[in-house]
Amino acid sequence: MIRGLPLMPGATLGVLGGGQLARMFVHAAQRMGYFTAVLDPDVASPAGRVSHHFIQTDYIDVDGLARLAGFADAITTEFENVPAPSLDHLAAARPVAPAAASVAIAQDRIAEKAHFIRCGVPCAPYAVIESASQLDAVSDDLLPGILKTARLGYDGKGQRQIATRAELAEAWADAGSVACVLEKRLALDYECSVIVARGHDGQIVNFPAQRNLHRDGVLAVTEVYEGNMPADCAARAIAATKSIATGLDYVGVLCVEFFVLADGELVVNEMAPRPHNSGHYTMDACDVSQFELQVRSLAGLPLTQPRQHSPTVMLNLLGDLWFRNEASAEPTEPEWANVLALSGVHLHLYGKTEARRGRKMGHLNITGADIDEVRGTADFAAALLGLPIPLSE
Ligand code: ADP
Ligand code: MG
Repeated sequence: MIRGLPLMPGATLGVLGGGQLARMFVHAAQRMGYFTAVLDPDVASPAGRVSHHFIQTDYIDVDGLARLAGFADAITTEFENVPAPSLDHLAAARPVAPAAASVAIAQDRIAEKAHFIRCGVPCAPYAVIESASQLDAVSDDLLPGILKTARLGYDGKGQRQIATRAELAEAWADAGSVACVLEKRLALDYECSVIVARGHDGQIVNFPAQRNLHRDGVLAVTEVYEGNMPADCAARAIAATKSIATGLDYVGVLCVEFFVLADGELVVNEMAPRPHNSGHYTMDACDVSQFELQVRSLAGLPLTQPRQHSPTVMLNLLGDLWFRNEASAEPTEPEWANVLALSGVHLHLYGKTEARRGRKMGHLNITGADIDEVRGTADFAAALLGLPIPLSE
């Protein structure tokens, strides 16, 4: 066991980043009797506003990091683009989970894919493009494809659809000739993800495989219920996720995203070294949430295998919903009362001060006795809010 762990309630848990994931971590930690400290550059960050301590500095500000380590007895992160050296710096003073080495792999698609291959989990055919000669050497078999920057992409940002070699050259130049991967565009049957939590002692627990629908590169809907995907495919996704986590000697919550192809083949897409949008349903549909497991793994407390007690549909609430009122250019709050009149609806809003199109503002978890009922409620809620229906394709 790491020195100083386990940390009992009354201790202070720190998080780098103050977005919605950190906010939900803070809520879970506070519910269990911990104090919290958040570091984020934004004075109005969703987590900073609800944390006991808030440090408003950049992620590489040495003084800010020292203040975070001063408040917090252990530190985690809510997003993978935290500079790994900042995590290393903190780790000299406090237990940090996940480790900088794991985060460094997850923040670089090239290193990430190499790790997947090492773990024996297949990914989409791809080529690394870091130089003009690698660009020229790309095989035509990868077209049509998707050019993705190796670093700093999220929610479909940093990606370009590529049909021809000329487009590829142009897109790579437009990306500033930074390190990229070109991935073959696969015909997806559907997408899924698996979230595991792994402790300092190597104990690992998992949530069920989540079936995900993306719109415009952003998660829109997650459905989790018995039979949401073929059992053998779900079992392979869970086994692959565990081997990816164990191969990193990972500590904390890890999400791995997969593609499922028409023939049932499972292809790994990417991983996130933190709780994930596709795991938000766990807050209302499971006996332990992904955020509580993040708290427990960070504090060195026992992990328990989650049990899903209700079938569920999660709907993401993007800022676009605030601009449905055509009479006004100003954002207008959606009519939550109508949605909350439906039983089994759980509204989560992240306390963001400004609604913008495409911005993640909150989510709805819908639970019920059986999936048909849940789906019915979800469709109804979507219709009230003006979300596209049907929810699944
Ligand atoms: P992000 O980091 O933005 O989440 P992803 O690599 O997960 O980026 O891509 C976002 C979405 O784009 C995926 O969830 C999937 O819907 C689609 N996508 C990405 N790569 C491929 C691919 N090789 N073939 C088909 N669809 C893809
Ligand atoms: Mg993704």
